[in-house]
Amino acid sequence: MADPMSVPTYQATCVSGEEAECGEQSEAAFSVAEREQWIEDHFLRTRHARYLHTVSDYRVVLPGEWP
Ligand SMILES: [Zn+2]
Repeated sequence: MADPMSVPTYQATCVSGEEAECGEQSEAAFSVAEREQWIEDHFLRTRHARYLHTVSDYRVVLPGEWP
């Protein structure tokens, strides 16, 4: 089950670039809107236009789930 003690986080990595990717990464944000804000800021500063989205969440295994 999803860990009730945690919330998902949303992150973006800039993967723009021909030979080498930019690679700049946002902080792990607690909302999509926060991540989108980072992308907007990065785009306006660099005109980089390609991003990888990563969503992280936690999962706990319950006792007896796998005998
Ligand atoms: Zn970039």
